[in-house]
Amino acid sequence: MSRKESHKALTEKEGVDSPEITHATSIAKIKERRKEAIDVPALTKALLEGHIAALSRAITLIESTQKKHRKIAKQLIESCLPYANTSIRIGITGVPGVGKSTFIEAYGNYLTQQQNKVAVLAVDPSSSVSKGSILGDKTRMEELVKNPMVFIRPSASGESLGGVARKTREAILLCEAAGYPIILIETVGVGQSETAVHSMVDFFLLLKLAGAGDELQGIKRGIMEMADTIVINKADGENIKAAKAAQLEFKRALHLYREKEFGWKPKVLVCSALNNEGIPAIHETITSYIAQAKESGYFEKKRFEQNKHWLMQTIDDRLKSKFYNRKTVQRALQEQLKLLETGKTTPFAAAEYLLGL
Ligand code: GDP
Repeated sequence: MSRKESHKALTEKEGVDSPEITHATSIAKIKERRKEAIDVPALTKALLEGHIAALSRAITLIESTQKKHRKIAKQLIESCLPYANTSIRIGITGVPGVGKSTFIEAYGNYLTQQQNKVAVLAVDPSSSVSKGSILGDKTRMEELVKNPMVFIRPSASGESLGGVARKTREAILLCEAAGYPIILIETVGVGQSETAVHSMVDFFLLLKLAGAGDELQGIKRGIMEMADTIVINKADGENIKAAKAAQLEFKRALHLYREKEFGWKPKVLVCSALNNEGIPAIHETITSYIAQAKESGYFEKKRFEQNKHWLMQTIDDRLKSKFYNRKTVQRALQEQLKLLETGKTTPFAAAEYLLGL
């Protein structure tokens, strides 16, 4: 069938009078289809078979705030759970400009050359404001987006880090059920999002740059402690020497920290994400960490601890939103705030009153 004929057949099938399907018509049709009831078993089946469109749709459903979507999302997750927990989850952090997306592009391509499918997710609570600063601009990973073995999803948006983190955790489960054995999770490298990502991954990689002067200035100790390996990026050209010097400095600094639970000593490596240099050594380090963590039983233990953390976190979040969403509480809170402002109550008395409503 020629293109013209198939176009004609399509327009007849779709019941469009005009020989041309206009852009507006197609959008209207897509919207119409979206409104149709979602066939959850069919969607689950397609997801488990690894269809990217089904995986995208499922993640959109878990990200939705609509009540009916939340219900479907719950069903989806329940059906996917038996097939989840199968991947290696790797967190990648570092300040903006350190080369996270360039690194993910290089590492992602390396992994697919080893016949691994890769899913790339992100946690960026600022994305609702900046319309997806992280991964939102897909041109940041030009090669990777074209790679059929890679699934890339920008950060969920949301008002709170807690909400974004929950959606990412659920997206991890869906990606695992869709057959992605390696999941890379990028985080912005500022604020609390590292802690959230750290609590959902098996391995945490910190990207750094060799800077002039004191290498250790401005490094948040907490983040250094979380890192299972530090990689000095941009070790190329004139920067090689400085990168090697920074490597030594970080190695020395890490000696001050205690060993990780199963005797793992965080490594310090150098790479050039731009030139694809140093990537295999990083992969070897990650693989050896995972093997040792599994052998010692730490891998399972950590995942259980993470699940426990998320269970408690979810309870906290639900209780809080249930409380604040009540109309009586909202009204009384305003009243109590006024009383507080005029010195007619104390914070504790007001809280006691509100919690007792
Ligand atoms: P992100 O904000 O951490 O995601 O950083 P990007 O991946 O967007 O990189 C920021 C800039 O650094 C871009 O201009 C990259 O081309 C550049 N860059 C990233 N990795 C390297 C590297 O290994 N060597 C050099 N020379 N430049 C790099």
